[in-house]
Amino acid sequence: MTAMSQPLRSNCSHLKDHNISSTRFSTSLASLFKTWSDQPLVRHSLNHNPTTLNSPQPHHQQNQTKLISYTQTRKESLLSLIKSCTHKPHLLQIHAHIVGSSLILDSTVCFQFLSLISLSPPLKNLTYSRQFFDQIPKPNAIHYNTMIRAYSMSDFPEEGIYMYRDLRRRGLGGNPLTLSFVIKCCVRVKNLLGGIQVQARIVRDGHQSDSRLLTTLMDLYSICGKDDDACKLFDEIPHRDTVAWNVLISCCLHNSRSRDALGLFDIMQSETYRCQPDDVTCLLMLQACANLNALEFGERVHKYIEEHGYIGASKLCNSLITMYSRCGCLDNAYEVFKGMQGKNVVSWSAMIIGLAVNGYGREAIEAFREMQRTGVLPDEQTFTGVLSACSHCGLVDEAMNIFDRMSKEFGVVPNVHHYGCLVDLLGRAGRLDQAYQLIMSMDIKPDSKIWRTLLGACKIHNHDTLGERVFGHLMELKAQEAGDYVLLMNIYSSAGNWEKLAEVRKFLKEKAIQTTPGCSTIILKGTVHEFLVDDVSHPRKDEIYKMLDEINSQLKIAGYVADVSSELHNMGDEEKGYALSYHSEKLAIAFGVLATPPGTTIRVAKNLRTCVDCHNFAMILSGVYNRKIIVRDRTRFHHFWEGSCSCNGYW
Ligand SMILES: [Zn+2]
Ligand SMILES: [Zn+2]
Repeated sequence: MTAMSQPLRSNCSHLKDHNISSTRFSTSLASLFKTWSDQPLVRHSLNHNPTTLNSPQPHHQQNQTKLISYTQTRKESLLSLIKSCTHKPHLLQIHAHIVGSSLILDSTVCFQFLSLISLSPPLKNLTYSRQFFDQIPKPNAIHYNTMIRAYSMSDFPEEGIYMYRDLRRRGLGGNPLTLSFVIKCCVRVKNLLGGIQVQARIVRDGHQSDSRLLTTLMDLYSICGKDDDACKLFDEIPHRDTVAWNVLISCCLHNSRSRDALGLFDIMQSETYRCQPDDVTCLLMLQACANLNALEFGERVHKYIEEHGYIGASKLCNSLITMYSRCGCLDNAYEVFKGMQGKNVVSWSAMIIGLAVNGYGREAIEAFREMQRTGVLPDEQTFTGVLSACSHCGLVDEAMNIFDRMSKEFGVVPNVHHYGCLVDLLGRAGRLDQAYQLIMSMDIKPDSKIWRTLLGACKIHNHDTLGERVFGHLMELKAQEAGDYVLLMNIYSSAGNWEKLAEVRKFLKEKAIQTTPGCSTIILKGTVHEFLVDDVSHPRKDEIYKMLDEINSQLKIAGYVADVSSELHNMGDEEKGYALSYHSEKLAIAFGVLATPPGTTIRVAKNLRTCVDCHNFAMILSGVYNRKIIVRDRTRFHHFWEGSCSCNGYW
């Protein structure tokens, strides 16, 4: 080896760890390295042999040609070694020879080696890559690109942005690829400002019609909540491929526009755009369907997945299970689960959570046991599912036992969701003080959701003093939402504490706090019908209200008494006059009865917790009209059938 390799080698900790000379060389490496050490080519090419100076020209040229071809062969052998390298000791030997020879000056060799150590598993190591990069005497844009790309996929994306700045400082131009990788880094850290600077560069360098670049930039705008800017960029993309459409769809999903996301599925395939959805599009669509309770649409996407041969992808199957469960269609979820090859922990968890939220607690616990029998190890998500299953069945002891085994046996540290399930469970069982003590004893900081769960339990059990205390904790977290005030008012109202109720109402009025309006949706033949309280905007409003009158008189015969005074949905209720008020889910259900043939299941999604009166209404209606009604409210599912509900009256 040449003398110059010594200081370089000692700079590199990876090389220091391995005694190169004592490492046994593989046969191919050994023969190659032997040739190199026998022929110190650096000296050859730099210092001409004095004898050749006097030699006639043809001989000298011959030597030159020989040298060039020899260098070329040596480089090619090394490149093929880099390509086939899979072991760390070999890697370190190659590294030593690159830095110890003239090949450190060769941009292709450096690029290949850098790609190997920064991008290709299993030898990928970013710290090591950075050390090698720093050894390259004159890195070019391609070397920078490799590093920025590696950072964009790593846990240190901001490093990629620093590298990009360094590249610019060195006066290297960079190319569209550089820009695309640096935007990806910006996406990872949500650095909008950085992205805007890169956009200016895109325009300056004349790349504004580069579809890929614009698509990546669109992703950044979407992630940073600038959906209008993202849409504007989409319009500017000259060739909108599936990736661009997918970014637009996920932009809608990020910004709670699931309905728009669904619409894009057909638009992208229309005559005008002729763009085929791919597996990623399907994943996004399933997510939108799950958000909207859009079962029919979900079934269409399922069919598309089967027709296009994506059904083998476990990610898609897992999403199908989640979509069907979230649409309250457990049979279909189970069908997909049953047909899956190689069920992983995500698949099992999706199924267990699906069973649990739909009220099939015992089946969920059985699935959990089956999962362990098949040798799949449960993770955090699985435990959230199985604990909430216990909660739905009121299995306090079983839950405590599982909670105990969770960390001891499976090494899963309980998170706030796991504690949330226990609080829900204790709340259901009326053990409110124990639930409160559990929250206070947690190692982790309680979040607003867990306090809200307990607040809900205080409402069910008319516990106004604890309710007040819990509300205090929510205020401490500055997390109290308008809905929590409504819950507190309901607690006071159930406990008959009218004085306090009036106080809260006055406070809300003074502060002009607005409650989220209740909104229910029902999807018929692919169209989403949305209802607010006392909504009169639906084109079939007259028929709907007529149907509601008819339902009310039918239900009265069956013993239904409108219970509108026991619960408030928002602060305006009192002023509006209870008797005339129709909550959004009643309107949606009435529309379902009106617009679908007898016996059809009615599926409604509601953004808030459903009230006692609407719950009774749906329960009795399911018996009288012989209809299955599935209502997904803010936290759980209610499967109404034959006059009862799967939640057993707890929600
Ligand atoms: Zn209601
Ligand atoms: Zn229910």
